[in-house]
Amino acid sequence: MTSSLAELEQPPLEPPSLFGNTVSGTLHDLSIPIGVMPPLVRESAPAFAVSERSEAFRRRFYPDTNLKTWCDWHWQYANRITSLDQLGRMLRLSPEELAAGTGLAALPLAITPYFAAQFNPDDPADPLRRTMVPTVAERTLNPGESADPLGEDGHSPVPGLVHRYPDRVLFLATDTCAAYCRYCTRSRCVGKPHTAGTAGATRKRWPAAIEYIKNHPEVRDVLISGGDPLTMSDAALDHLLSRLRSIPHVEIIRIGSKAPIVMPQRVTPSLLRVLRRYHPLLMSIHCTHPDELTPESTEALRRLADAGIPLGSQTVLLKGINDNVADMKSLLHGLLKSRVRPYYLYHCDPVQGTAHFRTPIFKGVDIIRGLRGHTSGYAVPTYVVDAPGGGGKIPLMPDYVQGYDGEDLVLRNYEGGLYRSYDPAAPAVCEPHAGTAQGGEPCW
Ligand SMILES: *Cc1c(COP(=O)(O)O)cnc(C)c1O
Ligand code: SF4
Repeated sequence: MTSSLAELEQPPLEPPSLFGNTVSGTLHDLSIPIGVMPPLVRESAPAFAVSERSEAFRRRFYPDTNLKTWCDWHWQYANRITSLDQLGRMLRLSPEELAAGTGLAALPLAITPYFAAQFNPDDPADPLRRTMVPTVAERTLNPGESADPLGEDGHSPVPGLVHRYPDRVLFLATDTCAAYCRYCTRSRCVGKPHTAGTAGATRKRWPAAIEYIKNHPEVRDVLISGGDPLTMSDAALDHLLSRLRSIPHVEIIRIGSKAPIVMPQRVTPSLLRVLRRYHPLLMSIHCTHPDELTPESTEALRRLADAGIPLGSQTVLLKGINDNVADMKSLLHGLLKSRVRPYYLYHCDPVQGTAHFRTPIFKGVDIIRGLRGHTSGYAVPTYVVDAPGGGGKIPLMPDYVQGYDGEDLVLRNYEGGLYRSYDPAAPAVCEPHAGTAQGGEPCW
């Protein structure tokens, strides 16, 4: 079993070689021992990687489903786990998970079978499981929390479009996701029962949003998000991308998605054929923990990178899940190996019912301090706090500036050592973060 599974992990993009991997056999050489023939299973092999872990889960819980079906994203999407009853047959649910219920939560429960296969069935503290399985804690509205902490609704000139920064817009193309993250910033508007599964409501907003972009030549960058845009069909994406691409002042288009992580099978050759027509197209991958980097998600990322799509990552800092340097580093290194450039690390927004995920804000600064200088600069994301009320993303970083000593600027390096840099042109009196020096010029 193991050897044929290992075989399956190699996507059969090329037909088995006519000459096989045998030493001397030719096609007509009937003396080749059966044991060294290319395995017959290749003929019905899936069009996607399947890890041993996923395969064991499929055999146990979906024995009637063959590998080809398992690798079909439509099947993964249609067979999402949406009730605690279903989940309870696969995981040993904790009292906190059992008490979550599903009716009252702001967000529905939906997990693809593939992603559920990655959970530890016996450990409610398993990082991936915590991001997806609701607990009773999310029913509480905690101090400082609200439904729309970023004030996105107030920055929407037309429904479904957020125009907060001068030259770029956020296009909320759908309200559906492949799986729902319990800490979602947009829990107020994604996966709502009245729209879930019906793309109509959000799609009706597209023409006005596209018209707005057409009429605003300053918009040179459109970020398509949601919801998860990769829950849409290839045809719908093609339609949206072609409309946006036909606007001359739109220079770049970005897609924000978690599908490569929770439903990697979505990254099909036909999706890639659509996406490559609209370059320059970039993608931000929402990822959380190194355990998400499975053979499956790694294949999805490889396919996207091979299609020439520059990949970035977005990660939310989550208490007890990824709030330590070791796990964060392992995630960031794994992403770089998959050609994903770490982009943003977010403080967990104060959305209602998420206090159990939130770290102190300066935890993120500590993590950046543990990364910068200690590992490749390419692996270090920018830590941002999305300012409540609509101030936008505000970067926070460790302070390496000690201040001036005479004509020297004193700087602290990543190891804590102090270094002087002769800087005579600087204002004579300048305290760190004093705001302005003499003459009203900012210090730095
Ligand atoms: C994050 C975000 C963007 C994109 O910001 P970048 O820093 O350019 O990645 C655009 N609009 C809104 C509303 C956002 O929240
Ligand atoms: S994929 Fe994004 S939009 Fe969807 S639930 Fe997760 S955080 Fe929210």
